[in-house]
Amino acid sequence: MIKMTDKKVALITGAGQGIGEAIAKRLHNDGFRVALVGRTLAKVERVAKEINADGGEAFAIAADVSKREEVFAAVDEATKHFGDFNVIVNNAGVAPTTPIDTVTPEILNDTLAINLGGVIWGIQAASAKFKELGHGGKIINASSQAGQVGNPNLTVYGATKFAIRGVTQTTAKELAEFNITVNAYCPGIVKTPMMNDIAQQVADNAGKPFEWGMEQFSKDIALGRLSEPEDVAACVAYLAGPDSDYMTGQSLLIDGGMVFS
Ligand code: NAP
Repeated sequence: MIKMTDKKVALITGAGQGIGEAIAKRLHNDGFRVALVGRTLAKVERVAKEINADGGEAFAIAADVSKREEVFAAVDEATKHFGDFNVIVNNAGVAPTTPIDTVTPEILNDTLAINLGGVIWGIQAASAKFKELGHGGKIINASSQAGQVGNPNLTVYGATKFAIRGVTQTTAKELAEFNITVNAYCPGIVKTPMMNDIAQQVADNAGKPFEWGMEQFSKDIALGRLSEPEDVAACVAYLAGPDSDYMTGQSLLIDGGMVFS
C-alpha cells in the first residue's frame, strides 16, 4: 500500500495516445503522480481527465519535445505543480516511412529533432532538475526493435532509435555519480496509431491491403501476437520502480520475441 507521502512524480512525453497513454495509466496504477506532455493539449488533457477520475493525480502540459526550452519549461511546470520530480519517460516520437530513395533533408532533420533531440533535451532537463532537488532519479527513453536491427523502409526512424541506445549508454555513465539511472525500452510491433500508419504506408507503397502491411512486421514474432501498449507499459513500470535500481545504461527488448541478443 503506497502512502500519499511516498508518491513519486513521473513525467511522460507523448502521453496523449498509444504507448505513452498506457505508460501514464500504468504508472498512475503503480502510485505515481503523473505529468502528461504532448504536442496536442486536448489529447493529454483527455488522458489526465481519465486518470483523475480514477482517483489519480495527473496534470497535462503542452510542449513540443523538439524544442529544448519547451521541454525544460514542462519539467519546471511539473515540479512546481507536484512539488517533486523523480522520473522522466522520453516516449514521444514520430515514424515516417522512408524507403531510402525518398529521404529528404526535411524528413531527416525533423525526425532527428523530435526522436533524438527530444530525448536529449529530456535527459538534460530531468538531470538538471534532479540535481537541483538534491536527489537522484530515473530517465527512461523510447528506442525500438528497429533500434536493434535494420527494418526496411525505416532508415531515418531506425537511425534515431539506434542513436537513442547510444545516448542511453553514454548518459548512464555520465550521470551514475548523481544516483541518476538511464535506461531504454525497445518495443516490437505495438497496436498504436503510429504502427497502423506505418503498416498502411508500406501496404500502399506495395499496392497491397493494410493486413499485408502489418504482416510484414508481425510475421516473425515468436509469441505469435502483436503487442498491446500495456505490454510495453509493464516494462517501463519496472524501469520506473525500485526493482530496477541496480540497472543503468540498458535497452530492454519487449517485443514478444523478435530480436534475440
Ligand atoms: P503514437 O501513437 O504516434 O503516439 C506518439 C505520441 O507522441 C503522440 O501522442 C504525439 O502527439 C506525441 N508526439 C509526437 N511528436 C511530438 C513532439 N514533437 N512533441 C511532443 N509530443 C509529440 O506512437 P506510439 O506507437 O505510441 O509510440 C510511442 C513511442 O514508442 C515512440 O517513441 C515510438 O517510436 C516507440 N515505438 C513504438 C512502436 C510501435 O509499434 N508502436 C514500436 C517501437 C517503438 P500528437 O498526437 O499530439 O502529435
